Amino acid sequence: MITTATIGYPRIGPKRELKKALESFWKGDVSEAELQKTAAELRKSVWQVQKDNGIDLITSNDFSFYDQVLDMICLLGAVPERYKWNGDDVNLNTYFAMARGSQTKDLDVGALEMTKWFDTNYHYLVPELKKDQNFKISSQKPFDEFNEAKNAGFETKPVILGPITFLLLAKSIDGSSTIDLLDKILPVYKEIVKKLNELGAKWIQIDEPIFVKDLNDGVVSKIKNTLNEIKSSAGESKILLTTYFESIDKKVKDEVFASNVDAVHLDLVRGEKNKDYIKNSNKTLSLGVVNGRNIWKSDLSKIIDELKEVSDDFIISSSCPLLHSPYDLDLETKVPGEIKKWLAFAKQKLQELNILKENINHGKAKDQLSENKADIEDRKKSKLIHDEAVKTRVKTINDSVLNRVSKYEERANIQREIFNLPLYPTTTIGSFPQTKDVRQARAKNRRGELSNEEYEKFLEEKTIETIRQQEELGIDVIVHGEFERNDMVEYFGENLKGFTFTSSGFVQSYGSRCVKPPIIFGDVSRPNPMTVRWSKFAQEQTSSIVKGMLTGPITILQWSFVRDDQPRQTTAEQIAFAIRDEVEDLEKNGIRMIQIDEPALREGLPLKRDDWNQYLKWSVNAFRISAAVVKDETQIHTHMCYAEFEDIIESIAALDADVISIETSRSRMELLKTFEQFKYPNEIGPGVYDIHSPRVPNKSEMVELIKKASKQIDPKRLWVNPDCGLKTRGWPETLDALKEMVAAAKELRG
Ligand code: GLN
Ligand code: ZN
Repeated sequence: MITTATIGYPRIGPKRELKKALESFWKGDVSEAELQKTAAELRKSVWQVQKDNGIDLITSNDFSFYDQVLDMICLLGAVPERYKWNGDDVNLNTYFAMARGSQTKDLDVGALEMTKWFDTNYHYLVPELKKDQNFKISSQKPFDEFNEAKNAGFETKPVILGPITFLLLAKSIDGSSTIDLLDKILPVYKEIVKKLNELGAKWIQIDEPIFVKDLNDGVVSKIKNTLNEIKSSAGESKILLTTYFESIDKKVKDEVFASNVDAVHLDLVRGEKNKDYIKNSNKTLSLGVVNGRNIWKSDLSKIIDELKEVSDDFIISSSCPLLHSPYDLDLETKVPGEIKKWLAFAKQKLQELNILKENINHGKAKDQLSENKADIEDRKKSKLIHDEAVKTRVKTINDSVLNRVSKYEERANIQREIFNLPLYPTTTIGSFPQTKDVRQARAKNRRGELSNEEYEKFLEEKTIETIRQQEELGIDVIVHGEFERNDMVEYFGENLKGFTFTSSGFVQSYGSRCVKPPIIFGDVSRPNPMTVRWSKFAQEQTSSIVKGMLTGPITILQWSFVRDDQPRQTTAEQIAFAIRDEVEDLEKNGIRMIQIDEPALREGLPLKRDDWNQYLKWSVNAFRISAAVVKDETQIHTHMCYAEFEDIIESIAALDADVISIETSRSRMELLKTFEQFKYPNEIGPGVYDIHSPRVPNKSEMVELIKKASKQIDPKRLWVNPDCGLKTRGWPETLDALKEMVAAAKELRG
């Protein structure tokens, strides 16, 4: 017999109710009691949905007001000193101070650092620990939510983030090693588990997603004992140990399966290797068969076939928590009907699990199964998806597609001659402030309250204004400002074939923030130019050089829901050719510098190092397909941000962009250390100030930074620019900052 389980459900609300409640609470418009009421209603509705759709093991404590790692910081009482926590159970004030910073007269502190959760687009708050860190239960959340569910008639399986993942994701503030705190943290975990057992939890879920990463032997050797310690306090409660996002290595598997936990969850969607572990297991298996982080319907018949190999009783679930899926396809109004039939959001994934269960256990749900089969077949054959010309084109990738005409040195000589830029040329990353008037005009145009002509006129005026500002500032290479773009991926997606958009496909990104990724459902091509109109218009307004602005193939891939019927590499190559067409058209229309942004190159790295090289090879090639079509005279720029680039610097160089602008100012040019070992060969603009803060940097700071940079990089190859686009900034601070920046470049030239 098989049973169904969830290992986590989205919490922001089917209509983003929690987002709205949180933001109103932060503004002071609703009381804490009202916020709590909304949260309780959401939790109840989520449990109800799971129950109604046949889930046997429903999760609790997967709700969060902000982030499950922050919840764990509170549960363990690991609040950093600067938040002046009084040591009682952590209240919402302290909680949100850690999440968002606080600016009251009693407490003036910044937020905890935030970073990406494995290779998803979800961000967690990073715990800060020290050598003499103490832990004690300092929140009642898992206990309260378990009781709340019980009182509402739901028997749940509380989830908590496991100790090894918690410690390894934490950062040490004193150079000690966080994993050394394991002995200190375990007693608190044991107490938590004991309490949950006393409350009557039949199952307790311990999440250890870090188990899928490359763990060193020291850590691996601690796994069995850690799990046994936890289990020893659980009484008759059963422990489900969950891993997800990838397979676990054999050495990790051996430890986990040798421990006393009752059940183990394995991701069978991403974790190919996990399939080796599912036969004759000594544990109850929880098999993640339905993709928890994509929006495609599962091929249920195929899953049933695969599960035939497992002989014992087992649990089926989504591959990872459904946190990474949108809520409910029934709410969807925008996706065309034919494509909608291919999709499944969180609620539909519950239904898939139930169909699997009914069929495997009782031979039932045959109609739903054949309906599923029909939809899967329909998608395979659909004319909407398949474009032979596109498929043929990606087979033509060869050296001449991938390589510029001449090597960088030769191109650089030609370009220096024709552009005649001063030393330390100044530029920006592309966008200028997207002020209220810009967003309003766009919204009005969408609603039909502003005609297309009026909207275009408005954009033209904005663009001209921005060009004049840059001329006045004396910026050497100018940009058009990107006012016509809502978002750097959506704008391109809307103009490419093979993409569609949802009305309801929101996924939590961090706190109250959600993203609504485009869906890449079919072969990608570019029917018409996408940016030529604005770049050309801008270039016509000025005698300075205007840099064209594009988003690169990997970033478009990374920030979308990607089709699962072909390798990501192939989809990336198709997008790359579409961008290549655009690059070619820009060049034909007199654009002499073209920037192809790839801020997401780093975050696409696979979780396991063994897979890095392969990914880097095809992603670098995708960029080169986009860029290499131009003549030597045309200068290709790229831009990267939000990441540590140290470990992929050689691949960044392999992009062979003539110029890269790169975020470094927050890490105070730490990147430059990398250049001591690796000589970056082409031109580079290390960001000289942080655009994420309204603070205006002064000239001398920037001069210092560039001077430092010029110790590692030939000044002839250095550019001066901010570290990212300016769209989130206001105009006054933007102008002030750029004025200082231009002055800094001038001083250096002197
Ligand atoms: N050209 C984009 C901009 O300036 C780059 C954005 C990014 O790097 N995220 O907004
Ligand atoms: Zn950026």
